[in-house]
Amino acid sequence: MNEVLDNTFKLEEVRADFPILNRKVNGKSLVYFDNGATAQKPKSVIDAIQKYYSEENSNIHRGVHTLSQEATTAYEVAREKMRAYISAAHTEEVIFTKGTTDGINLVASTFGRQNLKEGDEVIISGMEHHSNIVPWQMICEEKGAILKVIPVTNQGELDMKAFREMLSQRTKLVSVVHISNTLGTVNPVKEIVKLTHAQNAVVLIDGAQAVPHMPINVQEIGADFYVFSMHKMFGPTGLGILYGKKEVLEAMPPYQGGGDMIKTVTFEKTTYNELPHKFEAGTPHISGGIATATVIDYLNQLDWESIHKHEADLLQYATQKLKEVEGLRIIGEAKEKASVISFVVDGIHAYDLGVIIDKMGVAVRTGHHCTQPLMQRFGVLGTVRASFAFYNTKEEVDVFMEALNRAINMLK
Ligand code: PMP
Repeated sequence: MNEVLDNTFKLEEVRADFPILNRKVNGKSLVYFDNGATAQKPKSVIDAIQKYYSEENSNIHRGVHTLSQEATTAYEVAREKMRAYISAAHTEEVIFTKGTTDGINLVASTFGRQNLKEGDEVIISGMEHHSNIVPWQMICEEKGAILKVIPVTNQGELDMKAFREMLSQRTKLVSVVHISNTLGTVNPVKEIVKLTHAQNAVVLIDGAQAVPHMPINVQEIGADFYVFSMHKMFGPTGLGILYGKKEVLEAMPPYQGGGDMIKTVTFEKTTYNELPHKFEAGTPHISGGIATATVIDYLNQLDWESIHKHEADLLQYATQKLKEVEGLRIIGEAKEKASVISFVVDGIHAYDLGVIIDKMGVAVRTGHHCTQPLMQRFGVLGTVRASFAFYNTKEEVDVFMEALNRAINMLK
């Protein structure tokens, strides 16, 4: 595995940053192609979390003692680093959440509850993860609002003509995925934002699958909300980011009540804290929050242009190899695609393929990928999904293909 792309992106060196990649699984070198579910963590991030618990552990925002002040500063420094990384205009536009799911539920429960009324419309798409479907269904049901769905074409792209026709004065919010976790489709989010804003509606972009593949500029995208999970961005689980435009967040009521989100409490009346704390009730994921700074330091020293080329190369190589397999159908062939491939094989259950190739050390995801309506759209129960990160290699694709072909022969 001596692939060297250029002077700045050395694959071998990058792989050495991720201890888990040295693991054996079932006696074989691990080939980890389940990055869409969660990405692996560089050693610097693992060390930062360990250091926090070994040397720095204390609660934030309330303590006067040294440890608490150090932890508070580190947590807020991480928030500012995240602001810079996603190019948000203000630090208080960065809200720490539990993850993408939590961020979407926060917006549905606060913005949705405050602004939706009977007959209003919320638009999502046919390729959404369940976490960008169910919260909207719940709030629409509560408010008597209508949920509309942008159709997905046979290629796995959004039907933008249908979207344009769907938008109207009744549209209050559009919530779509940036990159589909199942198809890999990269959606035209800037265009979606422009069209939606022309109707004076707000836009949420689910960036869960975008952050592992590219640095995000929220101001350039222009959405009112942009949500993602740190664990898909080479950081810890249980932590996410909700970016929201300051004026939109300020107008929203709080989400959960509790410590940290208040200014004053009496039994008669509570006043709420300023942004971002208004949306951060209770003790947060402090170690993860602090380690976010290390994640960003790590991502910032990577050469993203080379990574983009490398991932496009992996995608093209694997796609071509998969297409040579008899009876195999790739689901999702959008023009703009991230390094995610879903496929089915005639007469063979995706689950069986996943179990057998795991025996050969290859980790892929099988099933509906929390996108059941999308599975129905393509008339399949589930797919096998291989999702690549920048530390994956062509040699690993070869191992995967060998394992897959062996599994198919066994199951035929
Ligand atoms: N949206 C998309 C597109 C996803 O891929 C995922 C995770 N598979 C989620 C939302 C939910 O993320 P989390 O489980 O981290 O909240």
